[in-house]
Amino acid sequence: MTPLQALQKYFGYSEFRHEQEDIVKQVLAGHDVMALMPTGGGKSLCYQLPALLMDGLTIVISPLIALMKDQVDSLNVNGIPAAFLNSAQNPDEQRDIINRLNRREIKLLYLAPERLFGSESKLINFLKSLPVSQIAIDEAHCISHWGHDFRPEYLMLSGLKNEFPKVPVIALTATADKLTQKDIVDKLALHNPAIFVASFNRANITYRVILKNKSFYQLLDFLKNRTEDAGIIYCLSRKSTETLAANLKDEGFSAEAYHAGLDNATKARNQEAFLRDEVKIIVATIAFGMGINKSNVRYVVHMDMPKNIEGYYQETGRAGRDGLPSDAVLYYSPGDVMKLKGFVTLEDNEEQSRVMLRKLDDMATYSELHTCRRKFLLNYFDEEAPDNCGSCDICLSEYKKFDGTLIAQKALSAVARLNQRFGSGYVVDFLRGSKSDKIWNDHKQLKTYGIGADISKAQWQRYLREMQAYGYLKTSDDGFPVLKLTPKSDAVLKGTEKVELTESQIIEEKTTEIPPFESELLLMLKKVRFDLAERENVPPYVILSDATLQE
Ligand code: ADP
Ligand code: MG
Ligand code: ZN
Repeated sequence: MTPLQALQKYFGYSEFRHEQEDIVKQVLAGHDVMALMPTGGGKSLCYQLPALLMDGLTIVISPLIALMKDQVDSLNVNGIPAAFLNSAQNPDEQRDIINRLNRREIKLLYLAPERLFGSESKLINFLKSLPVSQIAIDEAHCISHWGHDFRPEYLMLSGLKNEFPKVPVIALTATADKLTQKDIVDKLALHNPAIFVASFNRANITYRVILKNKSFYQLLDFLKNRTEDAGIIYCLSRKSTETLAANLKDEGFSAEAYHAGLDNATKARNQEAFLRDEVKIIVATIAFGMGINKSNVRYVVHMDMPKNIEGYYQETGRAGRDGLPSDAVLYYSPGDVMKLKGFVTLEDNEEQSRVMLRKLDDMATYSELHTCRRKFLLNYFDEEAPDNCGSCDICLSEYKKFDGTLIAQKALSAVARLNQRFGSGYVVDFLRGSKSDKIWNDHKQLKTYGIGADISKAQWQRYLREMQAYGYLKTSDDGFPVLKLTPKSDAVLKGTEKVELTESQIIEEKTTEIPPFESELLLMLKKVRFDLAERENVPPYVILSDATLQE
């Protein structure tokens, strides 16, 4: 039987997808393989088909017990003899499977890594006595610290090639950048592997990043025409998944929370309800999603910035598996970057921390792009892409531009006034006329001090980054980042060149009342601005502009 005939006979599909056929051939020829394919791309078939075409047993390593059961069930439905062994089974069930393995009745055996290598496990010696023809490692990125879902038990798999030196190993993942790929090959000791990277482009997903500004109301705005659609909303903390799910319910949405801290029954119930379309929205931490095979997810929203591009791309990839138009929305705030960086420095492994910080910076760069987001994502995974995808917020020109020449002039003159010796945080404090002792004492006499008090800190940071993207400013990398003028700065300062900046997306609030605490805060802020205005002779109307209220 050829691979194509087997595909048609066992799976009922008429043709291979992506690189499936080449991968299958490599495995059949006895080579080690690493295959990268997007979620839903059809990785399972890459080892299931060879398993059927080869004599002997295929061992499949998979991280989650729940996933194993689904996979085995659907194989059995197709008449393919597959089974799994895990700790949730009783001794009788386990003995039954061992017996069937002994009788060579099983073609695919699913195991968690700790089951295969667990200390008291005699399983590995038993399996070595069987004719094992292939070992498949699903979700192989779990072996790498550099991946976004490191699982210590996966490290046990580094012993695999010693135990089964002659058996071809196929490692599969939907999420691995270059570093993670190399790590997977090293840790599994793959021998001269054939590496396949399918296109990761998800053409039916529209990517958007929206500056966070009362994100709950932004979310309501996004959801208002999508009440019939299924969607996943990711939050950083367990607590916020519960709060958000409850708030959405209050607004009449069908939503449930999902995170690793919920008891198993609740998790299973919420997940099932979502899969069956009984619940439209699942509000989850990243604990939710791996192996979830729901094709009609219309949107994936991130309420907080994810920790890295791999995770983000994996999570957004859960939208639109049916190929229909779908949305990926990220609510971004530069404050999230700082918060996440704060967590990283708690890590004790220095190299690991550095990589994590770099990945956070990549994520922040993505969030603040002024060029095609899809191109950035695909380039990140070493894939070529055209400059304009036509279906991300940037390419759709969803952001209004305005004449930001005056703002740019203020920023550039501040940088010049400070002799190009400070980083963006300091420049912003200077622009806003910070009263912190050091800045105040050093600069209060300067005329430019506080000329940008009408613009919030976050907004200034955005403008400064945008100006850098356009080349009006640059960051020197001597020791610590310092803002410098560029050859293009001059024309702006002289007023011979206009600067277009991007308007931030402030949406109308649904509530008429501002909670008391917040309104007090706003009053306080306004007062500070008035003080500043008086001191600096800035007309008060500037001070009370929308930009002030954004904080
Ligand atoms: P992955 O593990 O890469 O996320 P799966 O292996 O679970 O993806 O496959 C996703 C879906 O695509 C499954 O429903 C599978 O049956 C289907 N599929 C896989 N290969 C093909 C193919 N060649 N033709 C049609 N459907 C396929
Ligand atoms: Mg899979
Ligand atoms: Zn684009």
